[in-house]
Amino acid sequence: MRYDRGVAGNGLLDVLVIGSGAAGLAAGVAAGRAGANVAIATKTSLQACNSAKAQGGIQAAFGEDDSPGLHAEDVMRSSHSTADPRLVEVLTTTARDAIAWLEEQGCAFTRQNGGYRLARCGGASRKRLLQVGDRTGHAITKALRESFEAAGEGMTLAHHRLTSLEPGRAGWRASFETPEATLEVEAATVVLASGGRCFAEAATRGELSTNHPNATGETTRIAHEAGAETRDLDALQYHPNGGAWPATMQGYSIPETTRAYGAVLLNAQGEEFTDSLGPRDEVSQAIFDEVEAGRGVLTEDGRPAVWLDTTRIPEEDAEISLPYMLRRYRGAGIDPLSEKLFTYPVLHYQNGGLVISTGAETTLEGVFACGEIAGGTHGRNRMMGNSLLECVVFGRRAGTNAATKAKA
Ligand SMILES: Cc1cc2nc3c(=O)[nH]c(=O)nc-3n(C[C@H](O)[C@H](O)[C@H](O)COP(=O)(O)OP(=O)(O)OC[C@H]3O[C@@H](n4cnc5c(N)ncnc54)[C@H](O)[C@@H]3O)c2cc1C
Repeated sequence: MRYDRGVAGNGLLDVLVIGSGAAGLAAGVAAGRAGANVAIATKTSLQACNSAKAQGGIQAAFGEDDSPGLHAEDVMRSSHSTADPRLVEVLTTTARDAIAWLEEQGCAFTRQNGGYRLARCGGASRKRLLQVGDRTGHAITKALRESFEAAGEGMTLAHHRLTSLEPGRAGWRASFETPEATLEVEAATVVLASGGRCFAEAATRGELSTNHPNATGETTRIAHEAGAETRDLDALQYHPNGGAWPATMQGYSIPETTRAYGAVLLNAQGEEFTDSLGPRDEVSQAIFDEVEAGRGVLTEDGRPAVWLDTTRIPEEDAEISLPYMLRRYRGAGIDPLSEKLFTYPVLHYQNGGLVISTGAETTLEGVFACGEIAGGTHGRNRMMGNSLLECVVFGRRAGTNAATKAKA
């Protein structure tokens, strides 16, 4: 079965986007704006993705004491100089424009004293994290989805799981499995935005993960088999603060903004054993080491943990910037403002991925990639708040450039 419905006269799509997270949606909106005939295909429902789970926020240098240059320095330092400086420059110099664009799509960031409410995230030298309460990813994806749908020109193909990608008549031929059939879609250009693989990886390792079950990584393998180059695929990131107890909170990522607003990590003796706002890899490693040295605590079901002392967060900050976290824990019988939380690192993010240019093109001509599936922007260790930013910055580039190439 072949899809010719709703596409150009020759039966070809201009741009086929794979994935409906923040990166795919940004690419879809941008490709549509650039005049392309675009479809977003996604494995299950349009809403199902990691992006919508993101709570903490998105980085952009808006502070008076901040600049894109300082942002770039923080990214390079946190990545231990493994990030691609050309991608980092694009990320950090277009961050403010990306926020303005998101606002145009209807995303309303939390404001304070006439500006954005900014928090400092791990590894950052300045307060730079914008938030929408603690449902930032949900707000961004909702705004982009509604924008794509409101434009009324793009097609959405829900429950289409990509199974292969091959050169086609005038571009690329993608094969999909749907609940009913196997089918092919031809497009001049393709944007791969299918996210990372940490759900599948955690299942293989028998560990907890923060990720959505759709984060299984097969698109990276498919692109690699089609000839695309990859980098840093072995560099997976642990989120320092997975929920460890109660059982219903296991695998939940306690937002890093808890630490931005005053929570600290404590060992069994109640001592601070690390800089709670250090880069993610260092904070996670410090927790592993503390537990290994016998200074951790055990949850009721015998899991290793340390304490995250959230009782130090001022109530007003928690109510503005952590309402969802409070609701989740209170619903599970624990009030984070009066009790410390059990926490332990959980598998969270794929740092590496497909090699891309500053224009978001992979090493395969006409195949673009953006978001967690792409490598280089964070090197081997991502800072919090830079993934949503990467999705928007490179999603827009991928969509626009894929549209331009398709029409050339
Ligand atoms: C709990 C949590 C909290 C986070 N908090 C933050 C934060 O505060 N700030 C921040 O910057 N980052 C955060 N992150 C990281 C960030 O949200 C993700 O890395 C980013 O949103 C990934 O976006 P994406 O569009 O690349 O992929 P995703 O949002 O994962 O979307 C991938 C899409 O591809 C689809 N797909 C997958 N395989 C296929 C296939 N074979 N065929 C078709 N479709 C497919 C999926 O169904 C999904 O729609 C968080 C992540 C998690 C899990």
